[in-house]
Order: sequence, then structure tokens, then C-alpha cells
Amino acid sequence: MEILDNFTQELLDELYHPSNSLAQPTSQQRVQAAELLASAQYNNLTAPIVELFSFLYSMRKKMQISPGSMGIPFVELQKLAVKHQDIDEHRVSVGGRLTQALPIAQNANDRVVQYLENHPEEAPSGIELWPEFEENIAHIKQVLKMDDEEWNSLHGQLRHRIDSAEQLGKVLGLSREQTASINEVTKKYRMRLTPYFASLIRKDTLNDPIYLQAVPAPAMIENSGEEIPPVAADHSPARLVDQFYPRVVTIKATNMCGMYCTHCLRISHIGKKDHSYAKDAYKEALAYIRSHHQIRDVLITGGDALMLPDSLLEWLLAELDAIDHVKTKRLGTRIPVTAPMRVTKQLLEVISRSNDKKPVRVVTQINTPQEITPVSKNSFRQLSKASFTVLNQAVLLKDINDSQVKLWKLCETVHEAYVRPYYLFNCSFRNPQFKHFRVPLEIGRDLVESMYGNICGDAIPRYIATAGGKIPLHRSNVIGHENGEYLLQKPWNGEQVTYPDADSELYNLNN
Ligand SMILES: *Cc1c(COP(=O)(O)O)cnc(C)c1O
Ligand code: SF4
Repeated sequence: MEILDNFTQELLDELYHPSNSLAQPTSQQRVQAAELLASAQYNNLTAPIVELFSFLYSMRKKMQISPGSMGIPFVELQKLAVKHQDIDEHRVSVGGRLTQALPIAQNANDRVVQYLENHPEEAPSGIELWPEFEENIAHIKQVLKMDDEEWNSLHGQLRHRIDSAEQLGKVLGLSREQTASINEVTKKYRMRLTPYFASLIRKDTLNDPIYLQAVPAPAMIENSGEEIPPVAADHSPARLVDQFYPRVVTIKATNMCGMYCTHCLRISHIGKKDHSYAKDAYKEALAYIRSHHQIRDVLITGGDALMLPDSLLEWLLAELDAIDHVKTKRLGTRIPVTAPMRVTKQLLEVISRSNDKKPVRVVTQINTPQEITPVSKNSFRQLSKASFTVLNQAVLLKDINDSQVKLWKLCETVHEAYVRPYYLFNCSFRNPQFKHFRVPLEIGRDLVESMYGNICGDAIPRYIATAGGKIPLHRSNVIGHENGEYLLQKPWNGEQVTYPDADSELYNLNN
């Protein structure tokens, strides 16, 4: 007889352990046991064996009924236990599977029960809401007198952009008071929604996350006070260029965006008017990059990089590709979420051609799963094929994405849309008008840590504070150190494990 592991040995002992109980199985239980036994013997599969053992185990634990009293002899189960590990490619034993692995998997499953139950209600994706959005689109097209051709082009989306309270009131059917209140705020803060983005606002929903991101709130006026000067001024070594780091610089190539976000960090330089920049400005920026060989990555941003015409983008990317020390490029854009029709075949070719020379990453901003619709997902799918990768930089915002369900759903939905969560920013302190959006650092930390071990590792963003550079905020899971051993903590259940360190004497031997 082959040797069975301890888990199986213990399981068999427990099943046949003598008992004082006089409990007898019902005839129904006897029949069930016989059927499960036959299935385990007849099939050359592991599952029927596990099923039989699992049934017998629960009979024993709950009712003190042993397999013997159901007519199953010890040797028969022993034989089946051997059969189980002979079939299993990794020689997993039935005892190990039943008493160890399955409870661990069950425990893991329990951690997502609440999430799976609540996410459709608490954080629906734009894909789930699509039928509702299609109705909104039909309505908005009618109100703004847009035809399909206009709807499906960036040009049409911008031509019909919603930038007054009155227009917004018409599109969303707002009351006169609501419209008047928005009108007050927009005297001070710029508002712009593409009709497409406006179609993602759910009717009759207070605190709609798209509405909150797009429509300036009265709180912005109440909060406005001392503005801490923008980072740009003190970090711009050359025209259009921002630099904190030796290896990466940004070119703020435009001040235009498809929409204006109510939490925009760049609120100050986006300013009051759209500008096209002189070619000389780009040339000076490129000259700075050319003369600094430390720079290897250039982030073309704005505003929004995809507000630039294809020809200008193509020229900028080609200029960067021609600089030897520039090895990688990024495009910063929210347009695939706010006007996904911008992602045309022609744009994809521009990106793909440059990507063939040196990697292009597209860096976007998606803050809620509601922003992922079949249309934006399709744009991201195509961008992900034309580029090296598409990354998401979300901002943690009160009421918009500051719950476990909302944040997990955001990361999973983004991931399913061919986009990798990259950063989650704690909303900046620099602009006092965003005070009402800010989430305490520690709460964000708990939210991000709650993802470890529960959702895919490559769908978990890094949690960052921006303060003249990006500063990681993650909690340390190293909680102790003694005698060459570290005490580590699993973020998903708090379980502590020891982790022997490398031998430092050995490490230093040849140094
Ligand atoms: C965000 C940013 C970068 C890029 O930072 P990564 O951590 O590489 O994504 C570089 N320069 C400036 C000025 C930035 O704001
Ligand atoms: S798209 Fe980016 S730069 Fe433009 S308003 Fe929104 S956050 Fe600001």
C-alpha cells in the first residue's frame, strides 16, 4: 500500500474513530453514500472522490456517523485515497485538498462576498449602464441637434461642447434653481463637458460621480481662499517643460482638454482660454531635451495630449524618436474617456508608427467604472494594441471612489478595458477649492491595501501623494525584525508570518 500523507491519515482516523454515539444513518443517507462510493470507484476523476470524502466527513462531524455504519470499509476509502493522488498531476492528496486547500479557498471567497453582492448597485460600470446611456445619448442629440456624424467625431463633440449652465440645464433637465446655482459657480470656474461625457450622467441620481467630476460645485467657491502657487512655475527649466526627475520630463504641449475636471490639479494653467502654441515653443522644449542626455522618458501632456492635431503629435513623436537618449514616450490624455471617438484609425497609426521605433505608453485618467462604456473600452482596446501599454492614474475623491467596493470595481473594470491601474493620487492640498473632495491619507491607504490578495496584482495601483514629485504612501507590511528574521503581515487578513532574511555575512563575503 502506497503511503498516504498526514492530512489523509488524520482524515481517515477521524472518520473511523470509535464513537459512543448510537446515531444511525437514515436509509436516504445510506443510498447517497452508496451512490457517491460507486461514482468515486467507477470514474477516473478526483472530484467524485473528494465529494464522497466530503459527504462522509460532514456526516461524521455533524452526526457522529462513521463510514463503517454506512457499509463503507476502511480499506475501501484507503484505496480511493491512493487513487486520488495517483490521478492528480501534482499528487495532491484527498485529505490535503479537503481539510486544507478547500477551506483556504473558501476563506478567500468569503472576502469578496460583500463586494460581489454590492458592486452592481454601488458602483455600476458604464457597460452595465449602457442601455440607460443610450437613451441619454438619443435625448442629448435631439436637444443639441447633433447628427450621428457629429456625435461620432471629436470635432462634433467639441463644437457642441456644453459650457454654460443654461445648456447643461437643458441637457440634463435641471430645475431653474439648480441651473442658477451652477451659473454662479461657472462665473469663477470653467466648465466644459463633451455631449458624450454628459450622456454618462445618470438621471435623478444625487451625487452622480460623473456630474461631480464635471460640474463645478458651490463648495468650490466656499472653499476658495489662499491658493498655493502651482508646481509648474518652480519646476519649469525650459519653455513648456516641467522637470522633477533626472530621467523623465513632461512637455505641457497644450492647455486644452476635452472636458474640465472639477478636481483638476492643473486648474491654474488651463486658465480661462484655449490656446494654440507657437512651433517655436515646442522647438525650445525639444532643444532642452536634446541637450540633456540624462532624459530618457518624455511625457507629452497638457491639458490633454490628444487635443493636439494628429499632424502635430506625429511631428512631436518623430522629433523625440530622433533624439538618441530619449528611449520611451508617454501621452497623457483623458480624451478616450471624455470623447472616445477621438481614437481614429489615423491617430492609431501615428501612435503605432512611433511605438514601433520606441515604446509609447498612453497614460489616462479614469476615476469611476461608470466611465468605462462599450465605446471607451473599444478605444482603449485599440490604443492598447497600437502602443506599449495603457496606464490609469486615478484621483481618490470623496463620494466618487472612496469606498472599497467603488475602488475595487474601478480597478477591475479598468483592467478589463485593457488599461492597467498605475497610480491612485491622494487629492492635492494645493488647491483649496478641492477641500470637499479630499480623503484622509489613512483611509486611502486602507482602501488600497484592501486590494492585496483580493484582486489581481497587476490591477492594483500605487498610492501616491503629489508634492513636487510623486511620493509613495503605502503602509509597510514589515512589522518586526529579530534575530535575522522579519515579521511580515498579510494585508488581506492580518495574518503574520516570519520571513528569514538573507545571511548578511554570506552576502558581504566577497564585497
Ligand atoms: C508625473 C510626472 C512625471 C512622471 O512620473 P512617473 O512617476 O514616472 O510616472 C514626470 N515629471 C513630472 C513633472 C510629472 O508631473
Ligand atoms: S483632463 Fe486632466 S488636465 Fe484636463 S481638466 Fe481634467 S484633470 Fe485637468
